[in-house]
Amino acid sequence: MTNPTEAARFPNASADVTSPSHRPTVDCMFCQRATDFGPLSDRCVYEDSSFHASHQIYEDGPSYLGIILIQTKRHVPNLAALSDSESERLGWLIGRLSRALGMCTPAEWTYCFGFTEGVRHVHMLIAARYPGMPKEYVRLAIADWPGAPHGDPIQVAELVSRLRSAVGRPGPP
Ligand SMILES: [Zn+2]
Repeated sequence: MTNPTEAARFPNASADVTSPSHRPTVDCMFCQRATDFGPLSDRCVYEDSSFHASHQIYEDGPSYLGIILIQTKRHVPNLAALSDSESERLGWLIGRLSRALGMCTPAEWTYCFGFTEGVRHVHMLIAARYPGMPKEYVRLAIADWPGAPHGDPIQVAELVSRLRSAVGRPGPP
């Protein structure tokens, strides 16, 4: 991002981590999680210096198998504020997680969505889109489909273990 025209159009692209909007905040649930990912260790599918990805679970019943939440480790309030290297890593990670879900579940393809609306900290979801899903559950109602594969915490941990090794496998050229 050295092109001055680009820098003018995307002023946040240089990711000035000293900017107040990029500082961790106690009010941000994703910053709070980033202080200690230990409680998520059974659900961690991928982690590096910039990102953490964990399988989602439901506290009040069986969990939809194949929904992974990616979050930045630092407080990044919107996608435009990602650095170029973070953007590249995020694209790579979306592809790797999607491929891993394809290897480890019967998913036909994956959804990828994120709004940075409820919490202004970059996070997005990658979800296994299973075959035979009724129309009323497509898109944002995907996790409500009772016919989708669900599992208890042990089954989630077992899937996470397989996803973790699948993420590391190189894909097609
Ligand atoms: Zn945050």
